[in-house]
Formats: sequence, structure tokens, C-alpha cells
Amino acid sequence: MSVNTLAKPEVQRSNGLDKTHNKIDLSAFMKKVIARNPGQTEFHQAVREVAEKIIPYINEKPKYIKANILERLIEPDRVLSFRVSWQDDQGNVQVNRGYRVQFNGAIGPYKGGLRFDPTVTEGTLKFLGFEQIFKNSLTTLPMGGGKGGSDFNPKGKSDAEVMRFCQSFMTELYRHIGKDTDVPAGDIGVGAREVSYMFGQYRRLANEFTGVLTGKGLGFGGSFIRKEATGFGSVYFAKEMLAHTGQDLNGKKAVVSGSGNVAQHTVEKLLQLGAVVLTMSDRSGYLYDPEGIDEEKLAHVMELKNELRAPLNNYLKRYPNAEFVENARPWGVKCDAAFPSATQNELDGEDARQLVKNGCKLVCEGANMPTTPEGVEVFGQAKILFGPGKAANAGGVAISGLEMTQNSMRLQWDPEEVDQKLQSIMRSIHKTCLMYGQEDGWVDYVKGANIGGFVKVADAMLAYGVI
Ligand code: NDP
Repeated sequence: MSVNTLAKPEVQRSNGLDKTHNKIDLSAFMKKVIARNPGQTEFHQAVREVAEKIIPYINEKPKYIKANILERLIEPDRVLSFRVSWQDDQGNVQVNRGYRVQFNGAIGPYKGGLRFDPTVTEGTLKFLGFEQIFKNSLTTLPMGGGKGGSDFNPKGKSDAEVMRFCQSFMTELYRHIGKDTDVPAGDIGVGAREVSYMFGQYRRLANEFTGVLTGKGLGFGGSFIRKEATGFGSVYFAKEMLAHTGQDLNGKKAVVSGSGNVAQHTVEKLLQLGAVVLTMSDRSGYLYDPEGIDEEKLAHVMELKNELRAPLNNYLKRYPNAEFVENARPWGVKCDAAFPSATQNELDGEDARQLVKNGCKLVCEGANMPTTPEGVEVFGQAKILFGPGKAANAGGVAISGLEMTQNSMRLQWDPEEVDQKLQSIMRSIHKTCLMYGQEDGWVDYVKGANIGGFVKVADAMLAYGVI
């Protein structure tokens, strides 16, 4: 038998795995992700951000490579898609599409919000569900990753229409969820009103009162601080990042985007910690108040958005010294800290360069993936403090996890106790980020959050064997 010693070793890259060296190759891996999930660009973006940080880590850990953990992790456990028919106020029959992505249940019941927005696609929810795996793992609580929603647009609908839609949506979803299976919550377009309609319908169909949804009203199973938790948690995370470099938020000028749940409570906590908040925004543009948005003005924003469901530019009717810039984002306003808290990809490379040029030293993502990859790169090169959403906005799901605990125990903790727990969870997430993301003189929080979130899930998957 002759051996051809000149033959090049065969390198098989079909799954991104270089079998000669037992290493994963990022570009081959991403090629496969894109081919298997055509058109799902936000999902590709979310996977790439994780893969860039995880691959160098697992290439040194043969146990993960051998078990093909990364490729298994990017494939959802299941994706449910269903028809949602409902009648509008004129008696017309409308049809929307509902989804639930049960992405990874290795460390607990699927947990993640529902988004009602006309832009929702399966790809959007896969991106959000994928992010949720790492975020939930970082909280230290036993929760798997999931996300769901619909292309239904609650804007401009009457309460009766929203109720009929929510009831129809839940009539299908209820057979796939449960307190120990999958526990949805709110997200864009799904607030207290929508959660209540859905919970009411679940309770009617299942004939049981269990913590199957979080974000419920305080009188029927909700937790104190749940509605504030994402915004408060984001500011607590910013506080930890600053404290690590010997600074605090007092007197810092802050620019916030969004004016929904996350943005409102981000502003509330920033004000409590002495920051000056200059902006908020909605889909129509951004509000710039050079005198600062104080508690009274924030209460007015809450009234406009939560009760009147009116555009943000109505603020000027009461506070004419402010400006409203139509169809624009607030990132050109000079600030020390930025809190993108509206939606994905709302802060691009150019915005990031502008922020850095204006002296911004901290960016803390209240929203999910609000910064584009180019923006993240700009912040990384400038070595400013950058808290990625999966760490910075994990406070919401953390308190959802604690709502589940309270429901199981059939009790309700007081607000101070929940807030203490929230602060302690955000501190622990920050510590995990330091553990995996510290580099000479700088913390790569993206790396820290991705690896920190990955390890627990990956080890559970290893323990289960091949499933
Ligand atoms: P809300 O629906 O309460 O508020 C969303 C805000 O963002 C609104 O002000 C909305 O404007 C604005 N917005 C939405 N889409 C766009 C867009 N395409 N362009 C510009 N502005 C837009 O949602 P939440 O505050 O709950 O969620 C905000 C972000 O935080 C999302 O990325 C969500 O996934 C993330 N998040 C939320 C959590 C939660 O607990 N709610 C937990 C973790 C993350 P308008 O008022 O005009 O509709």
C-alpha cells in the first residue's frame, strides 16, 4: 500500500468545520447559516455577532466542537406559525399571521416576549429568540429562549379590535404554551392591555390560573417592578459599567431613543440617578428638550403614549421650548451617554461616529440589537463603554422570571424586594461580562455577554447528549 505524502489534507467545510484542524471557520459557517435561512437578514446579523465572539472561544474547546454545539444552537427547537382571523369594527374579516419560535429549552421553559408590529416576520422573531437564549442564561435564572408575535398592527385599532385579535391569537397559541413549557410576555406593540386580553383568554380556554404570561396586572398575578424592569435594569447596567471605571451618572447628559415601555423607565431611572435627559423619540422623529425632560415632562410623555396613544410631537403643545425633529434619530445631539431603546438597527455606523465625535463615552442598549454591526465596530475601536442588549436589557426578562417564581409560590414580593433582586441580577450580569470580556485596559462587553450566556446553555446541551 502506498501513501501519497504530497496529497493536501482534505478540508471539509460543509458545516463550517475544518475537519483537518477541528476548528470552525467563521466565513464558511456564516455561508451555511445564510443558505439555510434565506432572506432572514436580522437573524444572520444576530448569529454573526454571536459567532464572531464564540468561535475563537470554542475552537479551543474540543468538547463543544465534537458535539457540534454551535450548529445545533442556531437551529430552533421548533417554529410555530399559524393563521389569526379576527373581525374589525366594520364586520370585515381580517387575517394576520402569528408565530412562536421556541428556540432553545436546554436550561428552562422557553421565555421571551410577543411583538405585534407590521414588520414582524419569522426572521425577526428568530433573531429575537436567538438573542433571548443568551440573555436568559445571563440572568442566572432557569429560562430557555423564545420569542413570538404577529404582523398585526395595534396602532389605530380600537380596544375592541385589539381584544378580538388577542383572543384569536391566544386561541391558537394556548395549546403550545404553559407555565412549565413556554411563558410569553410583552414586547413592541404588546403592553399591559394586550397581555391582559391574552391572559384572560388563556385562563378561559385552559380553565386554570397559572403564570403562563408575564407582565400581568398587579391584581392578577403580576410582579411589582416588571413594567419598569427593562429600563431600570439598563440604567443599573450603565451604572455598573461606569462604576468599573470610577464614574457615575450624576450630571451626565443622556440621549434616549424610543418613548415606549423601555425608554420611559430608562428615563425615569436616569432622572433618579441625577442624569440630564435631552431626548426621546418615536416612529415620527425625535424630541429634543434642551432644558431636560424632568419627572413632570416624563409623566406627560407617559400619558401621551400609554393612555392617549398619541404621537410624541404633541409634547410641544405643553412644552413649546422643546423641538421635534421629524423623521430623524437623536444620535446627533451632544451627550455623555446614549440609550438606544426603540428598535433594532436604529443606530448605524454614521450615527456611532457622530456620537463618538461628540464625546459620548457610554452606549447602553435598552432595545434588542439597536446598533448595526458597523456601529458596534465603531464603538469597539473607540474603546468606549458599550453594553449590548443581551446583557443591558436582561432586567425585563429577569423580573419576568421572578414573576414566574412568585406565581408558583402564590405570593407577591414588595417593590423594594424586587428592585433589590433586579439590581443584584444586573450586577451579576456585569460580573459575568467582566469574567469573559476583560482585555488589557478595556472590557469587550459583547464578547463577555456572548460567551457568558453561551457556556451554561452549551454545557446543558452537552449533558443531554445528542438531541
Ligand atoms: P414599545 O412598543 O413600548 O415602544 C417601542 C418604542 O420604539 C415606541 O416609542 C415606538 O414608536 C418606537 N419604535 C418602534 N419601532 C420603531 C421604528 N421602526 N423606528 C423608530 N421608532 C420605533 O416597546 P418596548 O419599549 O417594550 O420595546 C423597545 C425595545 O426594547 C425593543 O427592541 C424590544 O425588543 C426591547 N426589549 C423590550 C423589553 C420589554 O420588557 N418590553 C425587554 C427587553 C428588550 P411609536 O411610539 O411611534 O410606536
